[in-house]
Amino acid sequence: MGKMYINGEWVKSKTGETRKVINPYNQEVIDTVAEGNREDTIYAIQAARKAFNNEDWRQLTGEERGDLLYQIAQSIRKERDELARLETLNTGKVLTESIGDIDGVANVFQYYAGLADKDGGSVINSPNPNSVSRVVREPVGVCGLISPWNFPLLQLSYKVAPAIAAGNTMVIKPSELTPLTTIKLIEIMEEVGFPSGVINLVLGQGSTVGQEIAESLDVDLVSFTGGTETGRTIMQAATSNFKKTSLELGGNSPNIIFADAQFETAVDYALNAIFFTTGQACNAGTRLLVEKSIHNEFVNELVKRAKNIRMGDGLDPETEMGPLVSAAHLNNVDNYIQIAIEEGAELAVGGKRPEGETLQKGFFIEPTIFNHCHSKMSIVQEETFGPILTIETFDTEEEAIQLGNDTRYGLAAAVWTEDTNRAERVVGQLLAGTVWVNDFHINFPQAPWGGYKQSGIGREMGKEGLEEYTELKHVYKNTAPQPMGWFGNQ
Ligand code: NDP
Repeated sequence: MGKMYINGEWVKSKTGETRKVINPYNQEVIDTVAEGNREDTIYAIQAARKAFNNEDWRQLTGEERGDLLYQIAQSIRKERDELARLETLNTGKVLTESIGDIDGVANVFQYYAGLADKDGGSVINSPNPNSVSRVVREPVGVCGLISPWNFPLLQLSYKVAPAIAAGNTMVIKPSELTPLTTIKLIEIMEEVGFPSGVINLVLGQGSTVGQEIAESLDVDLVSFTGGTETGRTIMQAATSNFKKTSLELGGNSPNIIFADAQFETAVDYALNAIFFTTGQACNAGTRLLVEKSIHNEFVNELVKRAKNIRMGDGLDPETEMGPLVSAAHLNNVDNYIQIAIEEGAELAVGGKRPEGETLQKGFFIEPTIFNHCHSKMSIVQEETFGPILTIETFDTEEEAIQLGNDTRYGLAAAVWTEDTNRAERVVGQLLAGTVWVNDFHINFPQAPWGGYKQSGIGREMGKEGLEEYTELKHVYKNTAPQPMGWFGNQ
């Protein structure tokens, strides 16, 4: 049974409650894990607070913390196959995606291992002679790290690695649906060796464990990846003590195809942009905007290939697309399809659960494409988080930009054209944290990741992702102090 890890010990929940973890491919129980609640969370927060004040942790140098991170990266590489298998069992995603995720996790730990000892602060100009003024970065304190189910370990690594690099302590809460690889990561971290209380894992629901983390007066920073509405709830709760807040929320990313784009490559990437991880990616290319002159040809090719996508068990090398993560999520996605049909979107392919006995037990939905959409439709405005592509057309560059920016989200965007000057003009106007030119989905630890508008606050990865986990301190030293004689000087 998967346990929680609090104050350096593997523990059951205080109530003894447990939860079954389900394989979304066939609804079989993969494991049973502890189900914590607010009391367990408070205990973990207290352990993290104590550890933050403990010299064993505070005295470690950046170089030593970097070494711990490097060892974690190495262990993840050693455990790659098992971690990837677990991620596929728990999320349903295909194994090649899981392997990519786990490689990404190792890279993130290695990147922050290298950064941990690099920023020694800076000396700044002081207005006074005989003085030295410097700015240093210090850890924030106790961090609450709340991660989602779509990239369970990868999204968590964006938080854990920089939090350690900066010298913080933490309480980790994975999604209740997908805790298995996170439990394995904690085992790896325990083996690498951290002082008790630096790393704590609490399993349980968002509405109890997550909410306690967000509300607690003893948590100094909350970092959350998940839905925009949950982000709003967390931000409101975080005002209790004005904790630092980092939010990586939803997206509804435009993928803009100009007529001069390399046709086959653009079609190929458009399919990957939406159907990768069964559309359950915050940056999925959900809104395809195609220049009118190539629209018919482009859609025909997309539909032809979408019909051939093989759904199945993520562990089967033949499978190209797995199920959705849960019955509740399947229901959400199915609702969006019904709304789209009611609102007049033209269903070009998919739109239903697949036939065939083998897929009946899983939470499958066919790759779905809606043609002739417009920006007033719910499926264009809202994040469906499923394998649903909407298609709109444009005539001019201005129209493409206007449609591209026409939602409350701003996480990512892509533009496909062979005209490099046009590409730069469009990039400059798109309101998104990441813009790809002639590519999609690529991200790596060196580049910051995060959203404009309602896609979030702050950045993960890159040196900016480390700065989120630090406080800035200005130190001013008078090197020749003399009496001021300001008060009571006759
Ligand atoms: P949530 O945003 O609810 O879940 C993400 C994480 O937040 C989970 O660990 C969840 O816990 C936790 N959580 C939930 N409620 C609270 C709370 N009140 N306080 C603190 N933490 C909380 O995602 P859902 O699974 O409900 O999905 C809803 C929608 O969110 C999706 O349809 C999708 O649009 C979007 N989403 C976006 C993601 C992204 O990468 N940007 C990732 C996941 C979802 P638990 O699961 O244990 O309840």
